[in-house]
Amino acid sequence: MRWLPGTQRTVSGKTDDVVIVGAGLAGLSAAMRLAGAGRKVTVVERESIPGGRAGRISDRGFEFDTGPTVLTMPDLIADAFDCLGEDMTQWLTLDPVAPLYRAFYHDESVLNVHADTNQMAQEIESVIGPGEAAGYLKYVDFVTDLYKYEMKSFIDRNIDSPLDLISTDLLKLIKLGGFRKLAPKVSEYLKDPRTQRIYSFQSMYAGLSPYDALAIYAVIAYMDSVAGVFAPKGGMHALPQAMASAAAKHGVKFQYNTEVTKVRMSGSRATGVETSSGEFIPADVVVLNPDLPVAYRDLLGVQPWSVKRLKYSPSCYLMLAGSSIKYDHIAHHNIHFGESWSGVFDELIDQKVLMTDPSVLVTNPTFSDPSLAPNGKQVYYVLFPTPNLDADIDWKLTGPRYREQVISTLEARGYTGFGDAIEVEHITTPQDWADRGMERGAPFAAAHSFLQTGPFRPGNMYGDNVIFTGSGTQPGVGVPMVLVSGRLAAERITGPDKNYRSRAQR
Ligand SMILES: Cc1cc2nc3c(=O)[nH]c(=O)nc-3n(C[C@H](O)[C@H](O)[C@H](O)COP(=O)(O)OP(=O)(O)OC[C@H]3O[C@@H](n4cnc5c(N)ncnc54)[C@H](O)[C@@H]3O)c2cc1C
Repeated sequence: MRWLPGTQRTVSGKTDDVVIVGAGLAGLSAAMRLAGAGRKVTVVERESIPGGRAGRISDRGFEFDTGPTVLTMPDLIADAFDCLGEDMTQWLTLDPVAPLYRAFYHDESVLNVHADTNQMAQEIESVIGPGEAAGYLKYVDFVTDLYKYEMKSFIDRNIDSPLDLISTDLLKLIKLGGFRKLAPKVSEYLKDPRTQRIYSFQSMYAGLSPYDALAIYAVIAYMDSVAGVFAPKGGMHALPQAMASAAAKHGVKFQYNTEVTKVRMSGSRATGVETSSGEFIPADVVVLNPDLPVAYRDLLGVQPWSVKRLKYSPSCYLMLAGSSIKYDHIAHHNIHFGESWSGVFDELIDQKVLMTDPSVLVTNPTFSDPSLAPNGKQVYYVLFPTPNLDADIDWKLTGPRYREQVISTLEARGYTGFGDAIEVEHITTPQDWADRGMERGAPFAAAHSFLQTGPFRPGNMYGDNVIFTGSGTQPGVGVPMVLVSGRLAAERITGPDKNYRSRAQR
């Protein structure tokens, strides 16, 4: 690998043939960029479809998305298509979701969250009051500045050393208060617990409580609550399908239903991958999209200290329900907050027990796209955060009991008759996430605490020519981050994408 201070390390030697293990969103992002740069790319995927966590279950006419539902930052998707000379809109229809979220509180008040700042200020003014609306507008300025300084210098590039972080943007972030804790920073602008919750719960995506997360994580609130949320026509899985189809058109070879069992090394250089059917696929470079700690352990046979030390995000219990009942009081994405707030994080993260007064997400994809269910039927995606497998919970025993708790919580929160109306159901517990190859059953990867972020998160290079991509490496978890991670992986092979900045400014 070549590396001079101030430059980005890249793979040395021949890089013509690239094997990518895994067709998750990160693997697909890398594949599109590498194909666009003229590399011969083979994607080897264990499952029969692309998408990984953004998978699909089709059952009796119901189409269930199995992972992400809140899609933000579509420009990052468009950029992957641009690299192939393709126009994203020819492959994927993205409709804005309005409202972005509907938030329900224990005092029975309801807040519709809008991306349009004037519309949102009006909503806050009418539900809470003018002082809070004024605070909200200042908060939007704060997160917009955070995004501006963070994205370019800290998220959107390969970082080889903590020294790479020293920049004027770092000073600006310090001045903004980005390295203070999130909850007190949010409360400088927002005084009402309802707005405080809606603009700080996103730290949970990063695996942290707003009381422990740094304020720089308010950037996630920018990505959804300011920049907007979108719903792909055909559901979230339409995204990886579109990416895989465009990649295939440009010569990327997909080998589905094929599990990679080992990266074959010769000294510090990978020579290819071995599959469970005994096949050897030679490669000049190997890109690994499986969960990073699992890839280290199972495919490379090593466990570096930088990986062993990691602490993981909470997990979740996911119920996908095909239902005969429609609820008129809900929107596409609905957050039902319990009365407890700091207690939720204390239980999930510190005590490692199930929430006693849950805050939960209910997504109703058929609200935006009725074609995802048989005529007149509904799809519900119900996500209850849980501790990860560090907790002393036997999900084989607890799962069935917890299902009853989930249904009774939903029924108490306005989903009358939810249990009886279920026609088709698919449950995923933390144990199931682990069985699908996610370390500690944590589908949101290693938590984004300070010492597991940026240059302190496991890097994306191993040996001479093995590159990681996905939520376990830099920059981190979530659809926008793993799309960036795919670009950063490709840049380790091709060198910096010189056209990226000009495309991003369009
Ligand atoms: C329930 C849930 C809800 C979420 N909600 C959101 C959300 O609303 N918004 C958001 O932005 N993010 C959300 N996320 C996070 C987001 O989905 C992930 O960060 C992202 O999809 C991870 O992508 P990835 O490419 O890193 O990994 P993956 O999607 O896990 O891809 C890895 C791929 O590698 C394959 N693979 C693994 N091992 C092998 C092997 N040995 N051989 C061959 N193939 C292999 C897997 O089958 C998989 O296809 C959510 C995640 C979950 C689970």
